[in-house]
Amino acid sequence: MEMLACGHVAKEGPFRTCLHLCVEEPEDISRLYTGVGGEYHLLCESCGKLDDPWPQLAVVCLGCAERADDEKVTHVSGQPEVRHHDRPLTGTFHEEPTYLRPVNDRCLAPSGDGWLVYTGKYLVQLGGASYRLKMRKDREDDNSFGTPGPTVHASSDGWFAAVVWDHGRYGEAVNLAEGRTTMQLDRGDYRNYTTPFPFAFLADGTFVTATSWNRLDRVSSATGALLTPRNTEWRQGDERPENYLDYFHGRLTVSPTGAWMVDDGWVWAPVGIPMLIDLAAWQNGTTYAAEQGRSLTYRDYVWNQPVAWVSDTVVAIQRIGEDIDAMVDGVQLYDAPSRECVGTVFGPKGQMWAVDGRLAVAAEGGLEFWDVAEGARVGVLPGYRPTAYNARTRTFAALEDWVLRTYRLTGTEGVAL
Ligand SMILES: [Zn+2]
Ligand SMILES: [Zn+2]
Repeated sequence: MEMLACGHVAKEGPFRTCLHLCVEEPEDISRLYTGVGGEYHLLCESCGKLDDPWPQLAVVCLGCAERADDEKVTHVSGQPEVRHHDRPLTGTFHEEPTYLRPVNDRCLAPSGDGWLVYTGKYLVQLGGASYRLKMRKDREDDNSFGTPGPTVHASSDGWFAAVVWDHGRYGEAVNLAEGRTTMQLDRGDYRNYTTPFPFAFLADGTFVTATSWNRLDRVSSATGALLTPRNTEWRQGDERPENYLDYFHGRLTVSPTGAWMVDDGWVWAPVGIPMLIDLAAWQNGTTYAAEQGRSLTYRDYVWNQPVAWVSDTVVAIQRIGEDIDAMVDGVQLYDAPSRECVGTVFGPKGQMWAVDGRLAVAAEGGLEFWDVAEGARVGVLPGYRPTAYNARTRTFAALEDWVLRTYRLTGTEGVAL
């Protein structure tokens, strides 16, 4: 064995570092992707910002490499390898005139076998009934966390719906089958601009909604009855209760069978913490299940990211990295029972749905299908950017300029690529 650049006679590390990282404790580390798989080298942040950082890189021993890799990554350069193995798609397009204008691209939602549109006054079932909402006026001021505005949620059976104000305070839950409002939603005004309104329908005829910045409740979709009474208050000066939650709830994404839910919220610093909530335990009587979520990862200044469940236990969370200034496009896959990161796919970026174990992504250039096992994009529909997906009918939809454009997956197996 020869002596390596770090001065050690030892096994070579898996990546290069800038040499002074072996002797200095750098404040910040830069990751230089090589374009081969997810391979990278490590530099100090200032060497990482050089036009050509390569001459700085030296082969160091395993121990020195591991020590450098433990530091916080605050900058990235280069690109990981993004794999495209595109194959032909077999779905069918359909267009029809639709004399409705959704308020924004979050106001078209799957409902039963059809679609639901919120026009700003009315919640309309395409080809069916409409219902006038009484929602209170909410904030409209743009902020760095997102654009405030309404979002439509609907139960998959088509009986219930809700319009909530993302990055705002209010919402309204509706029993569509009976044509009446079941609950006016209110999560209070404490920093509500930082997250989309936390809301999700469950398959058991209930919904989860935020009732405060740090509290979720389960409510009967049919009647609006509160099913989860409990004490979550803490008055300053008193002893802090064991189940007090210091966490800002965010967008909720429920697993296919409803056993788990990812809560994409944050805590002070601020740090984004996708939290895993055990819905099955909550439904089975664990009173504080919503306060006992477990973290999947920590990301400085990063939350409000697309999330989708590719199976009942594996969830994909978009963006790769631990700091807002050092993220690359893609998804990280987490196994819910173990909370371990079980995979990384570089590339996906945009609104995302799970389809037969694959990911469908409304990317800038069109609708993309990504196979997480293959780690590659396996199909793309250029120019088509749906804003909703109906899992019951396996159909995507976009409603723009008075035309509903749908794309229906016709394969018998998978996405039929
Ligand atoms: Zn350096
Ligand atoms: Zn060494």
